[in-house]
Amino acid sequence: MIIAVDGSAASGKGTLAKRLAAHFNLAHLDTGSLYRCLALHLLKSGYLPEKIEEPLAAAAIRDIDLSMAGTPAIRTDEVAGMASVVAAMPMVRQNFVAFQRQFAGNRPGHAGAILDGRDIGSVILPDADFKFFIDADLEERAGRRTRELQDAGQSVMFRDVLEDMSDRDRRDRERNTAPLKAADGALIIDTTRLDADSVFAAAVNHIEHQRKQ
Ligand code: C5P
Repeated sequence: MIIAVDGSAASGKGTLAKRLAAHFNLAHLDTGSLYRCLALHLLKSGYLPEKIEEPLAAAAIRDIDLSMAGTPAIRTDEVAGMASVVAAMPMVRQNFVAFQRQFAGNRPGHAGAILDGRDIGSVILPDADFKFFIDADLEERAGRRTRELQDAGQSVMFRDVLEDMSDRDRRDRERNTAPLKAADGALIIDTTRLDADSVFAAAVNHIEHQRKQ
């Protein structure tokens, strides 16, 4: 079984993907961490988001350290901002395609794979068995992200997080290549007033219902 979960920042897509992965024994890839690892590498190398050039960013993919994917170092707003800048570059996106498809196609010991990101159902895995699109109001998402960053020990303010998230949303939704939008056939879940348990229950219901058809 292959599942694609797309959605906006702090919408709950990552939490949903992790829970579905555990429930259905699927390998899970958080594809945002790929763009974040690249962003971290570029920032550490001294590049600024407003100055970075596409061929350089795309070539830097061969030097990134994917072991940073599970670390707090990639979870800052600075890294997220740089990630959304390089993610708008077609050459960068192209260089990540094969890795994501290989991950989905070859998961021994698992019943399949689940990938979460922005373009999984639309570009990376258009033939996925199930597709979800997760979204919520900007203010709610900024509140969640503020609490998350504060819980991780970062001193951030709601207004700054809201502004960064709004900029990032705009870049993700308005870019020409693989813009953030619901894929054809995706179940859209608005999590503004739903907790993680309700979102998970809605997704499992949808999958079980479709499987019986
Ligand atoms: O999901 P996350 O917020 O960690 O992603 C960071 C950034 O990486 C997003 O704002 C987006 O610009 C980019 N991204 C993307 N396509 C994906 C996953 C992430 O463009 N499949």
